[in-house]
Amino acid sequence: MINVTKTFLPSLEEYQTYLEKIWKNAWLTNRGEFVKELEEKLCTYLEVPNLLFVNNGTIALQIAIKALDLKGEIITTPFSYVATTSSIVWEGCEPVFVDIDTNTLCIDADLIESAITEKTTGILATHVYGIPCDVEKIEKIAKKHNLKVIYDAAHCFGVNYKGQSLLNYGDISTLSFHATKLFHTGEGGGIVVNNQELFHKVFYMHNFGHNGPEDFFGVGINGKSSEIHAALGLCVLPNMEEIIAKRKEISLLYDDILLKNFSLKRPQIPSETEYNYPYYAILFESEKKLEEVQKRLNDNDIFPRRYFYPSLNTLNYTNSFSCPVSEGISTRVLCLPLYYDLQLSDVEKIGKLIIL
Ligand SMILES: *Cc1c(COP(=O)(O)O)cnc(C)c1O
Repeated sequence: MINVTKTFLPSLEEYQTYLEKIWKNAWLTNRGEFVKELEEKLCTYLEVPNLLFVNNGTIALQIAIKALDLKGEIITTPFSYVATTSSIVWEGCEPVFVDIDTNTLCIDADLIESAITEKTTGILATHVYGIPCDVEKIEKIAKKHNLKVIYDAAHCFGVNYKGQSLLNYGDISTLSFHATKLFHTGEGGGIVVNNQELFHKVFYMHNFGHNGPEDFFGVGINGKSSEIHAALGLCVLPNMEEIIAKRKEISLLYDDILLKNFSLKRPQIPSETEYNYPYYAILFESEKKLEEVQKRLNDNDIFPRRYFYPSLNTLNYTNSFSCPVSEGISTRVLCLPLYYDLQLSDVEKIGKLIIL
């Protein structure tokens, strides 16, 4: 059976040596040595000024919204994983959906200004499949209207844009280190903040608001992760270059086979992007065609996934917004199997079944 993804597992022996140290220290959480070491190594690898390791990518989004004190309306994308929208609603704000760009599948920056009202306090956009949003345009709009910008960068591990980490754009970027993501810690997430004072706020918020054992800066939540998760990340991290190179090779082979068929399209990656190959999304000409191919693959024990479907503006807990581009694309997009040890012969087989 071939699934859309398969978690990369590092050497068990190496992980065991970390576990032995954790046992010896008898220190499992509350910012132990491996959590701190992972944060330092991630800052170096990703070339970001700071990174807070938290227990998942959804709490990262929620802490970001809280720390920036967003209220009222948040402009967001309908084409993402549900956590992008649900986090806004969970924090008591209203998601205002702006349709997506047909090339990048990220929020269409040209449509943002007309969605701004006096209740708008921020923009929460996703760099979907690791493809950069129009960060320059978004920054300009945010400055002009005094809005905060959060990027859901759950797919952006290692993506560089115009010579620097994509995570350096916006006020806060959030990452997910879930087992299905490019880099993982089993469950986990990260918060990158581009302002030291704000980082301090994010930091205390992830630890109940603590300022020392008996003092509190303000309200907080438990966003901490554990030594066990951090150790897993420390074992996965040294393999990232190899993992990304392998995924690139697979993606290029898919391109080779599939793009000969002119009715198939791919989302476009802007120039000056150093990409990380987290997903392989393919756009069919119709939902009918997609379903036909999906069935053929399933019959061969191959299970791609419809990321992202449905379009989030159609969720039953949000106000209704019309996003024709996202609604259309979400019915026609399929993510094909892509993982470190997917065999090239299987990629060829999948490709042939699709263009059949
Ligand atoms: C995976 C994902 C999340 C949620 O991350 P978790 O670590 O699973 O909580 C949020 N946004 C996007 C775009 C994601 O793909």
